[in-house]
Amino acid sequence: MAGGVRNGHKLKAVIPGGSSMPVVRGEVMMDLTMDYDSIQKAGSGLGSGAVIVMDDTVCMVRALERLSYFYHEESCGQCTPCREGTGWLYRIVHRIEHGQGRPEDLDLLLSIGGNIAGRTICALGEAAVWPVQGMLRNFRDEFEYHIEHKRCLV
Ligand code: SF4
Repeated sequence: MAGGVRNGHKLKAVIPGGSSMPVVRGEVMMDLTMDYDSIQKAGSGLGSGAVIVMDDTVCMVRALERLSYFYHEESCGQCTPCREGTGWLYRIVHRIEHGQGRPEDLDLLLSIGGNIAGRTICALGEAAVWPVQGMLRNFRDEFEYHIEHKRCLV
């Protein structure tokens, strides 16, 4: 589709519905059709309909760092779980990306996410948490590698 993955690289992952939707692994995505039911069964959603395609040169820790920074910056600060929690998510992913991650950080990210989702005034709380949950569900091994070796797997 759209000429395939550039320069002969392999499809690694797709965020099928805008940056808030959980990531889907590339090999799973290739077996799906772009409709609500299929994408939902894969644990994600069509959301805003903006499709983000990532090839095998993309570091998923770096990708999540950028996503988390965006939601941290976008938080208006009105409610505490979003105002504080999005900052904590970003800072933890940032330290993993920069070689200062701790093994317990991955469960800490999930724990913080669980204390944001469903506890905020608008949907930005969930939008900040779903990318974190999706990345750890699908690419946890890459985050573990980053913490252990202090560098990217790719
Ligand atoms: S959840 Fe919405 S209202 Fe609450 S701080 Fe975040 S952006 Fe503001």
